[in-house]
Amino acid sequence: MAYNIPLFNLNFDEEEKNNVIKTLDSKWISSGPQCAELEKRFAEMLDVKYALAVTNCTAALHLSMICNEIGPGDEVILPSMTFVATANAVRYVGATPVFCDIKGYDEIVIDDNKIESLITKKTKAIVPMHYGGFPCNMDVIMNLAKKYNLKVIEDACHGPLSRYHGRCLGTIGDTGCFSFFSNKNLSTGEGGMLVTNNEEIYNRAKILRSHGMTTMTYERSKGHNSGYDVLDLGYNYRLDDIRASIGLAQLDKLKCDIDKRIEVRKLYLDELLGEDDIILPFADYKEYSSSYIFPIVLKCGSREKRESFRSYLSENGIQTSVHYPCIHRFKIYADFATDDLKNTEYIADNEVTLPMYGALKKEEVVYICDTVKKGIGKL
Ligand SMILES: *Cc1c(COP(=O)(O)O)cnc(C)c1O
Repeated sequence: MAYNIPLFNLNFDEEEKNNVIKTLDSKWISSGPQCAELEKRFAEMLDVKYALAVTNCTAALHLSMICNEIGPGDEVILPSMTFVATANAVRYVGATPVFCDIKGYDEIVIDDNKIESLITKKTKAIVPMHYGGFPCNMDVIMNLAKKYNLKVIEDACHGPLSRYHGRCLGTIGDTGCFSFFSNKNLSTGEGGMLVTNNEEIYNRAKILRSHGMTTMTYERSKGHNSGYDVLDLGYNYRLDDIRASIGLAQLDKLKCDIDKRIEVRKLYLDELLGEDDIILPFADYKEYSSSYIFPIVLKCGSREKRESFRSYLSENGIQTSVHYPCIHRFKIYADFATDDLKNTEYIADNEVTLPMYGALKKEEVVYICDTVKKGIGKL
């Protein structure tokens, strides 16, 4: 039987469609009651005080930089093994990204043992990225933040509902940033959320989200207040109600979808543990994880081999990806490269992301794993 297995599949059905139609029929399609409801429910779900719906995670990261007072001359420590938006946000505010290596081939998160050596008088913040929905060592990071008076901005794009010592990722630092891009756990096409327990940060981010204005259109439409002031140099980072209504349908399914992903992950681990030539990152992780992606790392050690392995999977109907090409090798980040990013570079060259979504069938996972083993044998 010929397979054609995508990397990711949307978990959409009638709920999303119905919600969109209801929103269209309501004639309020820009930011309004659906956004407010999504924020309320997202905050409740994560057990965090405030959630602010935004156009995407990049906007959430940008607002986080501003509201945590990061600016020109400041340094921000972050991994190079993340999506480029994490570092771009640092540069939007004129700060300097300082790349920290990851822990190892099986723990693809910022190396908490190396962070302290990168802290200087200019350091203002640390940006942990919870790769694949598996947490960075937040105890160490929060202790360093306390010791050196630094802000912590969590890039929690991969980890809605993932837990660290019982707490939801994104709610441990000063702010947490989530993405609702189409291939994320919760998909609205484009979209994102900034969460925080800090009222001041929330209030400022809320004003910056909408041109720095004192009240939003929807709030004005409810009352008689037609005037507004502009308090801050803001942006238009508002989410719209059409997308928010898709988000509400997605939110209802999130836990159940993640539970299915966890089963898929277990199947993968059962099939692949014991394979000498592959490393299975976070294989021992015990707490609840969004299981956003299923990464494997080839031990063979070259980008060419990895690409021929990916071609073999592709020829056999299996779509794969790479998370991620490291940031310091991109042209506009060349000046920020250092010699101490060896683990990051190894992952950039040798990681392969296998298909992961709740609806992946057992026979499909078995087929993928058999093909992976054959592909490794050919290297
Ligand atoms: C998707 C993603 C982003 C960017 O999110 P957008 O919503 O597309 O702006 C940032 N960081 C990480 C780790 C991501 O996976």
